[in-house]
Amino acid sequence: MVLHFQKESVVIRSLSILYRNENDLAGLPQEILAHAPGKMLIQVFSGVLDDDRIERLLDELKPRFPGAAILGTTTAGEVFEGRSLDHSVVLNISCFEHSTVRSSLATQNDDLPEAGRLLGINLKQPDTRVVVAFSCGIKDKRTVLAQPLLEALRQQLPEATIAGGQAADNGRGTRTLVFTDQGITDQGVAAVSIAGADLIANNAYTLSWVPIGKTLTITRAEGPRVFAIDGQTPYDIYSYYLGQEVADGLPLSAAEFSLMIERDGVLMAIHATGVNADGSVDYIQNFTAGEQLRFGHCHAGLVGLGAQRLCEELSAQPAETAFVYSCVSRKWILGADVLVELAPVNSVAPSTGFFSYGEFFGRPYEKPRLLSQTLTVLCLAEGKGHRKRDEIIDDQPEAVNAASRQFKSMRVLHRLVETTARDVETMNQELAGLARKDFLTGLANRRLFDDRLALEIKRVARAGKLLSLIMLDVDHFKNYNDTYGHVMGDNCLRAVGEVLKDVAQRSSDLAARYGGEEFAVILPDIPHEGAMRLADTIRLAIELLDIRHSASATSQRVTASFGVVTVSLDKRSDSDGIVALADKQLYLAKKGGRNQVLGLNQSVSPS
Ligand code: GH3
Ligand code: MG
Ligand code: MG
Repeated sequence: MVLHFQKESVVIRSLSILYRNENDLAGLPQEILAHAPGKMLIQVFSGVLDDDRIERLLDELKPRFPGAAILGTTTAGEVFEGRSLDHSVVLNISCFEHSTVRSSLATQNDDLPEAGRLLGINLKQPDTRVVVAFSCGIKDKRTVLAQPLLEALRQQLPEATIAGGQAADNGRGTRTLVFTDQGITDQGVAAVSIAGADLIANNAYTLSWVPIGKTLTITRAEGPRVFAIDGQTPYDIYSYYLGQEVADGLPLSAAEFSLMIERDGVLMAIHATGVNADGSVDYIQNFTAGEQLRFGHCHAGLVGLGAQRLCEELSAQPAETAFVYSCVSRKWILGADVLVELAPVNSVAPSTGFFSYGEFFGRPYEKPRLLSQTLTVLCLAEGKGHRKRDEIIDDQPEAVNAASRQFKSMRVLHRLVETTARDVETMNQELAGLARKDFLTGLANRRLFDDRLALEIKRVARAGKLLSLIMLDVDHFKNYNDTYGHVMGDNCLRAVGEVLKDVAQRSSDLAARYGGEEFAVILPDIPHEGAMRLADTIRLAIELLDIRHSASATSQRVTASFGVVTVSLDKRSDSDGIVALADKQLYLAKKGGRNQVLGLNQSVSPS
């Protein structure tokens, strides 16, 4: 038996036991044995997935502590005084001075809101400060998502801190158990409430995953199953970005590389739980198409920093005992380095807990969340008891040095990848902008013009509005080039471009270089008269540029001819048709003497 008993100054007596057989329960201190049963919580973290053994353990505990609240779960590893264990059974007995503990068991998880509602009603006590719940984590080989359970608990117990997690089964993904003094279930929820005016509950969590690399978009998802990311199967995305060995080892191989997404301002790391034959991947949270995410990354160097911050947060309040509910992926990724965070937490208060398939985190009156990939800690105290650094027990596990050279170099490497990804993203945005701009004039190019016109036509047809289009062409421009040279020709086109930028002022207007010495202006919602007036303003402005053109048969300076068309709701409308109508007017303007505006009003609205 390993036994740790705290110093006198502490009010909550908390005892952790590494349980192998009933002998480990012999010789418990009298204080514990004689403690008021209604004020006792016995948590059981069982890495042994054996109904009979759990049954036998309950049969030993119940007569020894009649009336004590028992709360247990199967695990994917146990936390015992700052250490990580496997396949063991860890007990924590917490004896409260004033607070009362009540347990409740729901034996179904088909209807989690109902399970949560009933648990909430059963657990309600005066001054309920804390609810700790363990829910069965697997059903039909799929992870059960406890979010609806947490929200139902919150409705019944708005003032409670919510903690706990989803039961685990050592990574097998087949069957998990949770239990209380009332029984065992493989498809339900076990929970306790702790109530008392003096009870101080402080919960906090650390994620330590950080987004890395390119932003990706979910293109098809149904609930927790994602079919496409950026138009490709998730399997292909993993293979492309993380390599074939990761794709082929899914889901476990990608534990370090969760998908990271921000929801309601909370950054979450969401890990894969299964891969399907069609290349789709299941996750521990639901997704919707259009959500943007990035791969996340985690390593011991980051975890060490996260643990420091977590412990500072936890130390801000009295903490006499600490319950640790930590995602199994942290253990998988960190291996022996998991001490980098378990040891510091254990220096805040003696800690016990388990590695889970999802963690519960809810502060009073706030929306509780099913987290994944996190380490959550619930600290409880009834007095001012605080573990001082120099009180730490002698056999405290050695923490991994977060400042080590290797961790530092990983942090730097991470920064390098991040900065590079950001640079590439910025460059892509600039390139995308350039691809839609005319190089000579800086106006929109033909491609952007075509896209925008198609979009506006759809909008006009839908909203029953109207659209005007101006096409203009510089007069006798071939002669201009022949007379003044191409460089002067280019300058002239630039000057015309500036005129157009000045007139297309509204954000919905678009002035474009249509091609050669031809330009166009899209004017959504501008009636015909307005568009004609605007065209004439442009015409006059070009004349007023006063660019000498001695070879023009029309004028002594550069001029342009205009065709304007206005259309309204018309199912037959298409870009080519509207451009052709404007072109026809432009042709007539040329034929009729140039340096003029001709228009056609096809809109039916009374404007
Ligand atoms: P019209 O009044 O009937 O429009 O006569 P035009 O001479 O303007 O028409 P035409 O289509 O015969 O000639 C267009 C000229 O525009 C020919 C071409 O060299 C010139 N051009 C097209 N793009 C550019 C350019 O980017 N830079 C320069 N400098 N000239 C260009
Ligand atoms: Mg032309
Ligand atoms: Mg011309």
